[in-house]
Amino acid sequence: MKKIISVVGARPNFIKIAPIHRSFQKYKSDINHLICHTGQHFDEKMSKVFFDELQMPKPDFYLGLGGGSHALQTSRIMVEFEKILLDEKPDLVIVPGDVNSTIAASLVSSKLHIPVAHVEAGLRSFDKKMPEEVNRVLTDHISDYLFVTEKSGITNLKKEGVSDAKVYFTGNVMIDSLVNFMPFIDKSMFIEKIGVNKKNYVLATFHRPSNVDDEKNLTQLINALNNISKVREVVFPIHPRTMNNLKKYGLFDKLNDNIIVLEPIGYIDFLSLSKNAELVVTDSGGIQEETTYLGVQCITVRDNTERPITSEIGTNHMIGTDFNKVVDASISILSGEVKSGSIPDLWDGNASVRITKIIHDKLFSQ
Ligand code: UDP
Repeated sequence: MKKIISVVGARPNFIKIAPIHRSFQKYKSDINHLICHTGQHFDEKMSKVFFDELQMPKPDFYLGLGGGSHALQTSRIMVEFEKILLDEKPDLVIVPGDVNSTIAASLVSSKLHIPVAHVEAGLRSFDKKMPEEVNRVLTDHISDYLFVTEKSGITNLKKEGVSDAKVYFTGNVMIDSLVNFMPFIDKSMFIEKIGVNKKNYVLATFHRPSNVDDEKNLTQLINALNNISKVREVVFPIHPRTMNNLKKYGLFDKLNDNIIVLEPIGYIDFLSLSKNAELVVTDSGGIQEETTYLGVQCITVRDNTERPITSEIGTNHMIGTDFNKVVDASISILSGEVKSGSIPDLWDGNASVRITKIIHDKLFSQ
């Protein structure tokens, strides 16, 4: 019997590990797949609802290490996760994405000579000011299995000298969750509940430090949403980080009446909102991918994307962070200037089946 521990910390991690956990059930006589939740996101709306809706078991280990600076959070996770590794001696550690839990867990595992698998490897924004970029580059270079979601990931890893033998193009586990839960998403009555009409509203989400931590940028962002709301109702589920800053800078009260302000939403209802939106305006990584799969127009308010396939062949519009341009682009998309898109290779709902098979075969061929 082999033992594997997957480490999750933040909202997008739960969505990425859920299908992997499900796929490991096929191998349950050979592999014991355990989940460690670091507690980076810890409350009901950012964590518990995802475990419930994604039908994940209660985590086997819960570290409860939310909050603090990057250094504090990363180091505390390292100290506590090391104890788990020494007790449990797993055969492999799986880390998804690019959050502090990802680099903390992979660094500790690598130092203890426990192999690491990075799910969503190779993505690069080439912007070292993003904490996520630092986390993903470092994690890739200490991982033993690199599971890549899009072809740019293969090219990036090759350029950085990562051996081809470690790299597997397996597709996108975030899309696995989307495909798996589509019947539930289609049954959601959330848009009726909040009183918006199909394909007649804009969905907005923001949480990147570069957009929401700086008062000037956040003010411009709110002005942009207010301007967009003059032509369409805007639905705005607000990330806790963004909400704190809106309150801190006295901007919360500046949001127009035509903006429906919500707390973060559960997975199923959020995807229903996304699928039915006429336009999504965001700085999220995962939402660029989900809208591409769903064929929904998406404006990404960032100067770069680590997911270039979403704008090369998908429905993602990379507009940059000039907020006037964001308003202009929104208005032209809402008046019909839409981009047709296609779905990237291997975004088919089976990435986790491929990943777990590779891991199973590798662990048992040694
Ligand atoms: N999401 C959600 N509820 C929300 C906002 C986002 O369920 O209110 C989901 C979204 O569908 C996607 C994931 O959270 O699957 C993206 O997470 P986030 O934007 O926090 O992180 P990123 O992908 O930017 O790292």
